[in-house]
Parts: sequence; C-alpha cells; structure tokens
Amino acid sequence: MLANQIAAGEVVERPASVLKELLENSLDAGARRLDIDLDQGGVKRIQVRDDGCGVPCDELALALARHATSKISSLEDLEQVATLGFRGEALASIASVSRLSITSRTAATDAGWRLAGEAAAPEPAAHPVGTTICVEDLFYNTPARRKFLRTERTELSHLEEVIRRLALSRFDIGLQVRHNGRTLQQLRAAEDRAGRGRRVAAVCGDAFLDQAVELESERNGLVVWGWIGLPTYSRGQPDQQYLYVNGRMVRDRMVAHAVRNAYRDVLYHGRHPAYVIYLEVDPAMVDVNVHPSKQEVRFRESRQVYDFLRHAVEQAIAGVRPEGAPAPVSLQSAAPASGVAEPAPQQQPMRLHSGGGASAPGLRQQAFYQALQQPPAAPLRTAEQLADSAAGMPPLGFALAQLKGIYILAENDNGLVLVDMHAAHERITYERMKQDFADAAVVTQPLLVPVQVSVSERELRAAEAHSGLLRELGLVVEQQGPQLLVVREVPAILRGADAESLLRDILSDLVEHGASERVEALVEDLLREIACHGSVRANRQLSVPEMNALLRDMERTERSGQCNHGRPTWTALGLAELDGLFLRGR
Ligand code: ADP
Ligand code: MG
Repeated sequence: MLANQIAAGEVVERPASVLKELLENSLDAGARRLDIDLDQGGVKRIQVRDDGCGVPCDELALALARHATSKISSLEDLEQVATLGFRGEALASIASVSRLSITSRTAATDAGWRLAGEAAAPEPAAHPVGTTICVEDLFYNTPARRKFLRTERTELSHLEEVIRRLALSRFDIGLQVRHNGRTLQQLRAAEDRAGRGRRVAAVCGDAFLDQAVELESERNGLVVWGWIGLPTYSRGQPDQQYLYVNGRMVRDRMVAHAVRNAYRDVLYHGRHPAYVIYLEVDPAMVDVNVHPSKQEVRFRESRQVYDFLRHAVEQAIAGVRPEGAPAPVSLQSAAPASGVAEPAPQQQPMRLHSGGGASAPGLRQQAFYQALQQPPAAPLRTAEQLADSAAGMPPLGFALAQLKGIYILAENDNGLVLVDMHAAHERITYERMKQDFADAAVVTQPLLVPVQVSVSERELRAAEAHSGLLRELGLVVEQQGPQLLVVREVPAILRGADAESLLRDILSDLVEHGASERVEALVEDLLREIACHGSVRANRQLSVPEMNALLRDMERTERSGQCNHGRPTWTALGLAELDGLFLRGR
C-alpha cells in the first residue's frame, strides 16, 4: 500500500494523469471505441469503458497488483514501454489513492466479472466484451494531495486536453465523453480525409479549421501532413499546438522551434501559431527519449528534420499569401499591420505570492540562499516547542531529519511530510528566476576570482550576439582573447555554483538555436538550467534550520500556485495512514 502510494505520488498527479493511464491501457487492449464518463472534474469519478480484448476473470486481481503485469517482453520493448511511463504499476498506484473497480469480459466467456478495490474475489457482472475501469473519490485517503487539486473547471480542462491529444492521435478510435452526465464530445472514427477534417474541427474548433491550411510534404523519406493555422488565427498562448512524431504526441524544443521559425516573419511578437502536425520518420532515425514525461525526441539527422519541417510549414503559409498582399510583418516591427486579428496582448509576467515587505525581488532569494549557506544559527526545536507552536504549525511542518541525502522528513499536524529537497529547491529557484527575469531584476554578484572559459568560435559569436540576454540572465561575460571568455558576475542566487559549466550550458543552447534567431522562447529553458545549477544537489547535507527554510519557502511558492507542474516535490503520510501500516487501532 505504501509502495503503491509513493509510486502514485510519482505518476498520479491529478485526474488527468489517471485518465491518461486508463486510455493508454484501453489502446493497448486494442480498443476501437471509448466511453469516458467524468464527474466533478474527475475527482468524484473517472470511468473509461472500452471494447478491447478484456481481462480474464483470474487475471483481474493481477491487473491491480504492482509490477505484476509488465508488458516488457524483450529488451527492445523496454524503451518503448518506458515512453509510456511505468511498467505495470499504473493501476496499482491509482487503486491505492482512490476507490477503483474493474469490470471486464473477454471474447472467450459469456459473462463479465467485476473486482472492486480490495474485495477478495471477483463477482459476476454483466458487461460486453471489453473493460470498464471506474476510479472514484481520487485522493480520498491522501488529503495532502487532494489539497493540490484545483477547481472542477481547471481539472476538467486538463482532462479535456488529454482527450484532445488522444482524439488527434488516433482518428480510428470512436469517442464519447460525458461530464456530470452531460455529453461533451462525440467523435466517430474517421476513415477518410474529410472525416479527419471534421474531427480536427470538432476538437480544435471550426474557427481553426476555417483559418487553417492543409500541410502535406515529403522529402528524403520524411513525411509531414496536418493543418496549420494562418497567422490571422494566431493565439495569445501556445495552447493549440499539436505535434505528433510517428503517432506520438511530442513537445520537443527543436521541433517546436522549427515550426515557430517558419512563422516568424508573419506573426507578431508574443503571438503563437496554432497547428496540428503529423511528422512521419523512419523509426530507425528517431530516438524517443526514455523520460516519460518529457515528450522529447532525438532525431539522428536533426538538422535535416528541422530544415524540412520549417520549409514545409513556411511553404504552406507562403502558398496562401495572395499576390500583392502586404509584406510580412517583421517581428521587430512595432507597427500594426493587417493580417493580425487582434493586437498582441501584453504578456503578463507570472506573479509570485508577495508576502509583506519581503517580496522585493532578489532580496528574498538572497535571504533564502543565505539561509542555505550559513551554518545553523537557530537551535533545534524540541518536541515541546513543536507542541507549543502546534496552533501555528505551518502546512509542511518542521524538519526532523534528512534521509539518504535526498529527502527531508518533516512533521506537521497530520503526520509525516516527505520532501524531495532537490526538486523542491529547483522549483523555487526557477520560479524566482522567472519572476526576477520578468522584472528585469536579476541580482548579480561579482566573482572574487573571475572564471576563464575557453570557447569555440561559434560559442564566442553566440556570446557576443546575446550579450544583452546574458546580462539579463545575470551573467556578466567579457571576451578576453580570440577564444577566451571571462565570467565576471553571476546571478547572486548562484553564488558558489560552477560558473564555467553554467556558461557552457547556456552557450550550447544559444549555439544550437543560431545566433540570429529568436531567443526569447529559450529564456524559460535557460532559467530552468540556471535553477538546476543553483539548486541543492542530492547528497548535500542540510542542517535542520536549512531544511526548515526550504519548507517555508515551499509554502510561499505554493500559495502562488506554482506547484502543480511536473513531479510532485513532496508527499505526506497522515497518522491514520501510518497507523494503518502497523495495523494499529484494529
Ligand atoms: P501496464 O499498462 O504497464 O501493464 P497497468 O497498471 O496500466 O500496467 O495495467 C495493468 C494490466 O492490467 C495491463 O497490463 C493489462 O493486462 C490490464 N489492463 C488494464 N487496463 C486494461 C484494459 N482496459 N483492457 C485490458 N486489459 C487491461
Ligand atoms: Mg498502463
């Protein structure tokens, strides 16, 4: 149970992650039709019924057992399976944090069987061939996690995104989606081009299809097809960008960059194109990244793919520009021009919670970093002090100890809190860097001993071309010789970090994107890199006050609503759950 819940912490973040797993299982089972029923943003209920191969009665319990059902049968499978996430633990993990039932029937029998959660044995149940999995009351037994769930509407929008991605990746699957009993989406399997167009319109909206051109191109064994929105259909957010490589949804920097670049002369700064693009590549030419959540790919001939994609999209856009139409608007140009539906909205910098007077950018992070640097000043809290302060007990409690150099163990009113200190610190640092960068307030710190970094000519040119950006990122770099740079100042938050490797990482990004191209889009990646350099490493021993400083900072960052991306940084085990582990009170 505990192992399952910890695994659940890694894979089950919110209703949408549950739905994604259920849908993947249905597809694995060969389903052609899916009925998805959701209640209250999926928190109350997520139910998926499919017409796949079903699960035999005597395997129902196995399906819910951890690691029992690895689909890996060969080493080659390993990579494939890894891309789908985890191996035979999704259902077990989900079952550990919800009330789950599975009802299924295979073609070999006339009767279906149902197994509910921890019930001892399956019971007969009517069911056509296929499987229904019903997940109710998600996180009912892990309140800390439930706390992170957002409004019904937000959770529903995440669920809908999972469904859109599936609908666009598998035109051959029929789908019906209901929420709180109301039908949201009904899609038939699309057999031909017209049918696929109808589905894209149903999923992305009629307006998109009306203002999109079809893309179709082939070169050297590379095939691309799909729909790309005209510049008039640009959006304020990159929220309608679907890119599939060999059928798999991908969010890859290089690929996205190629597409963005194709638009760069026709889109206003700050506007984002909309597209649904399918890239087909010889599987031998592409490596899917083993990291499940990253959705990245590696192409053997990445330059070729980049050029091909960029060119194909560029041509498709250019093809529709009428003769004599106004010249494309340059990105740098501030003058309004026709062809842009609405003015580019002001990009709202993300706001962090600003508590009291401590919110001056840079100051807080400095204080934070100092707390991490300085030797423990505050005395350890005793149990009595803990009791005394129980009324004002912070949500993540007070640190007790550090485990294996990786986790912080803390105690709060409910029980035990476990924090992945590197992940937590990295997120905090990243959010701060983003904020400071947005405010143009990255605080720099001169290095006592400037660091020399020998670089290639390309790196040197990239550093020159982007000296302004480097400065905004908090790096003051000068050229000292034909192939020598010197780092004079670094972001204050990075004091003590390895300036050379930081500069190298940043330069390699800049080089990869070419010195003449847009780099704004890169900034988040760069900030993420900086955050990573500046964050406490695993195996660093933290003192109790340092750990408490980190916990308090996490709380501050949470309230700003920045904590619901990516991996969880912490989890909690309430006393009741702990008691359960020891069969106390039974
Ligand atoms: P994995 O998918 O990695 O094997 P899961 O925990 O997601 O692990 O699923 C466990 C097993 O349950 C699957 O391997 C499969 O045998 C069975 N299963 C789950 N969902 C379905 C389904 N919709 N149809 C048929 N079998 C299913
Ligand atoms: Mg699975």
